[in-house]
Amino acid sequence: MFKSLRPSDITLYLILLAIVLGFGLGHYKPSVALKIGFLGDVFLNALFMLVVPLVVASMVTGIARLRNLKELGSLGTRTLVYYLSTTAISVIIGIILVNIIQPGKGVPRVQDVHPEAAYRIQPTPLRGGSVLHLVDDDDRFYGTEYNSRFVIELLDQNVCGIIDETSCIGEKDIPVSYWIDDRGKKVEPETEGFGVQIKLAEREFSFLSVLIGLIPKNIFTAMANNNILPLILFSLVFGGILTTLGDKGKTVIDLFEGLNEAFLKFIRLLMYFAPLGILGLVAARLGRAELTSEGGFMVEITRMAKYFVTVLTGLLIHSVFVLAVILLVFGKRKVWPYLTNTSPALLTAFSTASSSATLPVTIECIVDKNKVSQRTAGFVLPLGATINMDGTALYEAVAAIFIAQVYQIPLSFSAQVIIFLTATLAAIGAAGIPEAGLVTMVIVLNAVGLPTEGIAMILAIDWLLDRCRTTVNVWGDSVGSAVIDYWEGKI
Ligand code: ASP
Repeated sequence: MFKSLRPSDITLYLILLAIVLGFGLGHYKPSVALKIGFLGDVFLNALFMLVVPLVVASMVTGIARLRNLKELGSLGTRTLVYYLSTTAISVIIGIILVNIIQPGKGVPRVQDVHPEAAYRIQPTPLRGGSVLHLVDDDDRFYGTEYNSRFVIELLDQNVCGIIDETSCIGEKDIPVSYWIDDRGKKVEPETEGFGVQIKLAEREFSFLSVLIGLIPKNIFTAMANNNILPLILFSLVFGGILTTLGDKGKTVIDLFEGLNEAFLKFIRLLMYFAPLGILGLVAARLGRAELTSEGGFMVEITRMAKYFVTVLTGLLIHSVFVLAVILLVFGKRKVWPYLTNTSPALLTAFSTASSSATLPVTIECIVDKNKVSQRTAGFVLPLGATINMDGTALYEAVAAIFIAQVYQIPLSFSAQVIIFLTATLAAIGAAGIPEAGLVTMVIVLNAVGLPTEGIAMILAIDWLLDRCRTTVNVWGDSVGSAVIDYWEGKI
């Protein structure tokens, strides 16, 4: 039996084993699990390192294979039609399920609040700002859990600290850039007191700024920030121009084709390290959740079981029925082999919670193993990793309606239609990075006047749901490339 196993099969089984081991270790030995988290960081860094070069190389190569502008128009239109229709279907599934299951009925509101915790604030003159040290009796507080998405409120002083995520210090410390009062004015708080609450920072999100950001002042800054959309646009125009330059353009296109091959090979090599990296990622994340949730993570999941099951059922229906049928009917592909060939990408998506970080693996699986043409995959996959997020859209709609149910705010039919539209837009606007959906969910909540602090309730288990929805996001892109490739090939 083992003779017939290919190296890629062995890697796949090892990745599966790593996920199971990671869960076991994170659950039973959380502090050991945290110690091997560095393996995950190394793997994640390596993936991110390859995203920018691979996006540019595969996009330029893909576009250069188009014969004229009309072909680009047809490829672009089909891609958008596929993205929008599948995202819309997934949101509808979510809305139907959350209305049937009603997971928020009877759930008490929870906040990330530590009223008894004593705190001390020390200025950090070299860095600027200060650091808040917390003495938390029930030991649930981990400063490293929070990044700049959060603010910390001193309950006894009504002052909020803006967290400075660039200078992570210790488990019980939070670095703060500056403090503001309830009118947004900078203040210096008392240095000792009792009671803190962690809240999600209110973020302005506008599609106009996303649109303006499509054209960066400096393409290298966009690369350094892993800002994919401007790179896609740049590569699209650049690849198009190369095709008009005759022989000179051909030389450059050949160079990019070579680069593309080289990066794909890089990914294939990196996948040998994937089982270890994935073990580190899964173990450390669950370990952290075990240590920070009251009574352990299992208690947290049980408390939110109905909500968790609602999102999960929706994701399953969408991926197992809707996307699989689309793959079969419109992509003319057998689902099982296509799925097995894509599974390294799906498992990487589950482990990293990032469509962007997974993109190199997705491209490798879809082009190398599933034999989708480079021309289609080079365009559909990078774009899909940034704007096509079926899982995120479904989750945003479910989460928003769940929050309304907990707060006992009735939602009319038209309010649910607005949720449908904004969840679709919010998913398009979400970046392909961990928990980006949480940030853009503010759009959905604001659109129908739901309290944004409701997000606090779903925070504790969001990291796990994030992994599930990211897997569906990547599956949606993968199915899309087969469908669009077939469609294009027929014409
Ligand atoms: N983590 C997701 C992704 O990268 C986005 C999200 O839903 O937060 O696809």
